[in-house]
Amino acid sequence: MAWPSKYQRDIEMNIELQCCALFIIFTISVMFFREKRLDLMNRKLFQCAVCACFACLIFDILSIIMINKSVHDGFNPFITGIVCKFYIMLLALQGYLAYVYASTGLFPLEKTWAKTVKITSNIIFILGEILMLLLPIFFTASGRVVYSYGPSTIVAYALSAIYILSTIATTIAYRLKMPGRRFTAMLLWQGLWLLAAVIQFIVPEILLVGFASAFGMVILYIQLENPSEYLDSTTGLFTTNALSTYVHDKYRFGKSFSMFTAKIHYLTNNVDYNMEQAAVMRTARALVRLGPEPAFRIDDDTFCVVYEDRNRMFDRAAYIKMQKDNVTDLPAKGTYLLIPDSLLMNGPDEFFRFLHTNLESEKEVLVADEEMLKNLREQNSIKELIDEALRTDRVEVFYQPFYNVKKACFDEAEALVRIRLENGEIVPPGVFIPLAEETGQIIPLGIRVFEKVCLFLANGEAEKYGLEQIEINVSAAQFDNENPAGFVLKHIEKYRINPRLINLEITETAAVENRGIMLQNMGKLIERGVTFSLDDFGTGRSNIDYFVNLPVKNIKFDYTFTREFFSNERIKLVITGLVDILHKMNMCVVAEGIETKEQVEVMRNMGVEFIQGYYYSKPIPEAEFISFLKENNRGAQ
Ligand code: C2E
Ligand code: CA
Ligand code: CA
Repeated sequence: MAWPSKYQRDIEMNIELQCCALFIIFTISVMFFREKRLDLMNRKLFQCAVCACFACLIFDILSIIMINKSVHDGFNPFITGIVCKFYIMLLALQGYLAYVYASTGLFPLEKTWAKTVKITSNIIFILGEILMLLLPIFFTASGRVVYSYGPSTIVAYALSAIYILSTIATTIAYRLKMPGRRFTAMLLWQGLWLLAAVIQFIVPEILLVGFASAFGMVILYIQLENPSEYLDSTTGLFTTNALSTYVHDKYRFGKSFSMFTAKIHYLTNNVDYNMEQAAVMRTARALVRLGPEPAFRIDDDTFCVVYEDRNRMFDRAAYIKMQKDNVTDLPAKGTYLLIPDSLLMNGPDEFFRFLHTNLESEKEVLVADEEMLKNLREQNSIKELIDEALRTDRVEVFYQPFYNVKKACFDEAEALVRIRLENGEIVPPGVFIPLAEETGQIIPLGIRVFEKVCLFLANGEAEKYGLEQIEINVSAAQFDNENPAGFVLKHIEKYRINPRLINLEITETAAVENRGIMLQNMGKLIERGVTFSLDDFGTGRSNIDYFVNLPVKNIKFDYTFTREFFSNERIKLVITGLVDILHKMNMCVVAEGIETKEQVEVMRNMGVEFIQGYYYSKPIPEAEFISFLKENNRGAQ
């Protein structure tokens, strides 16, 4: 039976846009499914959305053809009705998937309300689909106007509208929790859909909805799901971004994984770029060859592979290490970090903190265990303790007086930092200073200590009772930035402190590491009247050159060093000789950690200028220190 020629042309006109859309979806599918992909929730949802869009377009075209056949040709209307229903059910499915795609990763899954929202939206969807299947549907075709209507269709429109609006609302409500490009892509996608539906409603000849959803897929693909976004351009391995998304995804769904990380350390200083690139490429190829598990390049010279099974991870790791050991042409060393179970860490943040902390390890092979995690947590809580103390002004400075042997009074003191807990307990610096030096928190902490000392000196009370100088500890890291002398001078000026009241205690380590910067800054400060002491003498790298040429006023014998004086005859000889030499160089000696009368006597006889130790006083708070001075410096005033 032949169709009239005009009618045939109308059918062609009506499915033109859908055919274009099919072509687009086909192209995206080819690109998307060909590329290497990570097993991510969003990816899976996008895959579902592409499939739903594809099926929807097929049924769209089928339904148009069949409606025309039924209306003009007497084809069984029941079958046509079923095809129409499938089409609108798939349309609603697309809306639903868009909503799930938008809300995944945004709603906190553990919250009750999020669970309720999830269950409710699933129920609405299933009920809607059942209703569409059961309720009657009608259709009509007249020229280019072809559509279905009736209760079933109304449910489809209502459901789609609910999902489109919910998606838009979710996107807007959570805009701050997503990257800008995701926000734009989601709004564009849903906005286009809405616009197409409105146009199609007003001008029923233009069947735009199918085309709009295919176009939406293009936007999503380009903006969010383009696999090359996640691929390292040099090696083709996945990137750090990809790892971050992957790890977040795994934790969100409570899935455990194992991970193996390898870092290459080049053993020659002048590795040329081509050699390095060749090594990187070779590593990448070896990792890809090892198996189907995703491999990532998370830094120039750091790679990792994620496994579902810990035994396989151990097996592969051993194999990789063996292969690495066989490479002889490029002098390089590998360090390996193995994480058998990701659920050891309580979430992605801790996972990455763990990774970054331990990647720098000196050990060749590290296997993550409870102990390492305990350390990490302790360090993190100390880090938070410091931040909190700085924020809430619970950094305190205690003072420990030095006894001036010649003047028989206490005219100097060392400022020693403490953190006071909310319950009044005191945390000693040994707990937090080493970590603060590593994290850089020593900079704000050092400034705070300096401010407190200046404030203490500014009221003049300590001076009134005979105090002539306060020693403040300065870490190597505090001499690391551009203008370290700056903060000292700034505060001295701000509080109008006589610079002669300030003595900075530096360590040999600082003097060795940043000798140039250190000397430059010391010069600037000495010009203004500030003096220096060399702390912890006898513990560090005691290279004669470093103290001989440092412009310091005092040398502080570390208490481990002075202790040895009493137990080791040879050290006794060294110390006695050293005191003599230092005096000839016009330096004063401070003996630290003196606890008994006998020790005091020995130091005194040796000609040490200052004695610091529990024998006289422990480090004490400001008020107590003032009382101490008042009490003990009476004769000297
Ligand atoms: P340090 O500079 O060697 O300070 C001397 C330490 O020896 C102080 O410990 C002091 O309380 C302790 N000490 C003094 N006399 C005796 C004694 O007779 N017996 C014993 N057993 N110990 C004695 P503290 O206050 O715990 O400070 C530990 C370290 O923390 C300091 O060692 C210093 O390196 C660092 N530190 C303290 N405050 C600061 C600060 O404001 N900035 C920096 N960068 N480091 C600081
Ligand atoms: Ca000190
Ligand atoms: Ca010391």
